[in-house]
Amino acid sequence: PSGAIIKNKNKTYTFIDNFYYFSGFSDFNIKNEDVLFLGYGIESEIYNDYKDQDVRGKVLLVLNGEPRNKKGKSLITETKTPSVWTTSNTKKSITASENGAIALLIISENYIGRLNEIEHFVKNPPCKVVIDNEEDDKSLPTFYISPEMANDLMNDLGNAWSLKKIKKKTYKQKTPQIALIPTVLDIVVERDKHEILTENILGFIEGTDKKDELLIISAHYDHLGVIDGEVYNGADDDGSGTVALLEMAEAFSKAKSEGNGPRRSILFLAFAGEEKGLLGSKYYVNKPFFPLKKTIANLNIDMIGRIDNNHRENTNYVYLIGADKLSSDLHNISSKCNREYTELDLDYTYNSPDDPNRFYYRSDHYNFARKNIPVIFFFTGIHEDYHKATDTIDKINFNKIKKITKLVFFTAWTLANREDRILVDKIPND
Ligand SMILES: [Zn+2]
Repeated sequence: PSGAIIKNKNKTYTFIDNFYYFSGFSDFNIKNEDVLFLGYGIESEIYNDYKDQDVRGKVLLVLNGEPRNKKGKSLITETKTPSVWTTSNTKKSITASENGAIALLIISENYIGRLNEIEHFVKNPPCKVVIDNEEDDKSLPTFYISPEMANDLMNDLGNAWSLKKIKKKTYKQKTPQIALIPTVLDIVVERDKHEILTENILGFIEGTDKKDELLIISAHYDHLGVIDGEVYNGADDDGSGTVALLEMAEAFSKAKSEGNGPRRSILFLAFAGEEKGLLGSKYYVNKPFFPLKKTIANLNIDMIGRIDNNHRENTNYVYLIGADKLSSDLHNISSKCNREYTELDLDYTYNSPDDPNRFYYRSDHYNFARKNIPVIFFFTGIHEDYHKATDTIDKINFNKIKKITKLVFFTAWTLANREDRILVDKIPND
């Protein structure tokens, strides 16, 4: 189903068993290329695998992560905290592409474990949203390969080039270990394509005296669907956010019918395709229903119905992500609303730019943030049923949903009714 195959000499490697990949690049066919083993594929001031290397037109093979010693200390950060070369999914691929490589193979040392986590992404056919003039599909063909496959490819280099030895040597000598692998590698990616239709669902309440400005409240209503005959209900992800959205739409409509409609317009936006790569929100920001320039903020709710392991003792919490990234006003308003009405513990752990989970990039609000629209992502965290068939309604903490929904509601009410539009006064990091 993957439509991809990699051949090396007489051996054929297959999707899932030996390698996996994410979508985002066009079909292609490469034959008879030398493979350059380029250490960790890192290009930084402290440590640079690309220094004095011409990688143009080459297939690169690199280790995942970054050079570390036995205790886990990174050569780059000089602490145990990983750098972006470990936490980012795209940094190595982008760097390889910028340097002119034609494909990248990343050795995934924890291949089986990693595959387990992202199975639903790679096993189901990839989807992309079709938008005119879209510049997608331009990313570098990037494959994550098993250590066994890596050992096969590197076999001709001899014993000194075992992964273990390479890693040790790199850290000790602080020098990249690089070798040209004389092999014949064929990579063919040819995928079947089908067009699938889906819908975002929009509910609009027109404002009064400031109706030409818009607040968007959102949640995604899709989940993983049926995998191997098993239904994935997604009660928390994101049934919890979707019901919160409906309740708020009802509350704002009721207020309007009683003569207390919002001054600014509000769009209640239920997204499709989030689990396939934030597709519904990507489509929306490319084909907005209301001008993005007039869109003051996006409050996005994705998973607010559970208690995570960090809060077993104090369950009165919510993670806020993104609130202060573009607008101090937004951050201040949300914390003030909380102080006055809901008194939740606002947990900003995942708001830190160094947080390795990178949740800021992982739900629909991010597509708004990219367009310079201030966002808040409301979230109660990951749990053992995340992206499993066991994310069921009996495990939902409805009080939790209710309380967080109130916080979102009061924040929305304030944003929609205050005299001044919130200011965008900060410059995003990326
Ligand atoms: Zn979700």
